[in-house]
Amino acid sequence: MGRNVKKSVGKNKYVFVFWMLLAITLAGGIFTKIYLNLEKGERDTDKIRIVTSFYPIYIAARNIVDGSGEVILENLSEPQTGCMHDYQLTPQDMITLSKADLFLVNGGGIEGFLADIGKSYPNLSIRMATEGLPLLEANAHGWMDTQVYAGMVENIADAVSGMDSGNASLYQENASAYCEKIELLSSQIEEIKDALPDGENVVVFHEAYEYVAEQYGLSAVYCLDLDEERQVGAGEAADLLEEIEKNQVSVILAEELYGKDMGKTVEKETGSKVYYLDTLVRGAYDKDSYLEGMQKNIDIMKRALQ
Ligand SMILES: [Zn+2]
Repeated sequence: MGRNVKKSVGKNKYVFVFWMLLAITLAGGIFTKIYLNLEKGERDTDKIRIVTSFYPIYIAARNIVDGSGEVILENLSEPQTGCMHDYQLTPQDMITLSKADLFLVNGGGIEGFLADIGKSYPNLSIRMATEGLPLLEANAHGWMDTQVYAGMVENIADAVSGMDSGNASLYQENASAYCEKIELLSSQIEEIKDALPDGENVVVFHEAYEYVAEQYGLSAVYCLDLDEERQVGAGEAADLLEEIEKNQVSVILAEELYGKDMGKTVEKETGSKVYYLDTLVRGAYDKDSYLEGMQKNIDIMKRALQ
């Protein structure tokens, strides 16, 4: 009897193993099928995958590819990331880039990780929006000058046209239409500039505003770069106050996010007034967000310089 029991347990064991193997085989097959379908869906046949590095480049590219069914446009960073000076690529970024055909960046050193990308993805086409445009020395925040930005839009349109020549005329038309809107901003700035005495002194709390100063014909006598959360040392603060007094600065351009504390201090200690502009590196993924943000900046500058 004991032998019979043992035999029946042994038989059950084989049945169990058999069912286990069958289950594993079936599950494996199902997962493989799901995976292959996903891959097929993701590849989406011959669509062109364009990835932008950060917000202002994404918004420009979005205007260019508008109405094209041939392009999938993605942004590498989150819409709230801001400038990419110290940005580290995430594993998800690397997956995104490995599938991309074209990587549109600002250039000029803002994307510090760019050297690694060229090595890791030798077949990825990388184009710099600021290529050939007049940038300030060691400062690539060119989108803050509407005329430089218009040049970036044209560069992006050329890069996208090169990838998808069949729709080149659409991309070029989109670029012209968008540049016309940008031109309306440029002419407002020109008007403000013309009404000013030449070279009024200002202080900026962000490198990006050196472009604003330049376009309005102002002279940025001091830049306290508050591009991120950081402590301003006592010596640095003293230098700042001294420069404001010495150059009779009455207007300071700052960013709300990182410049507010110093802005309050400076307004208390000197006779100057701080105006908070948008660096246009964060916001909603909206086609017109650059135009709207820049218009707000222009309205603030009008008040500041009256
Ligand atoms: Zn920056």
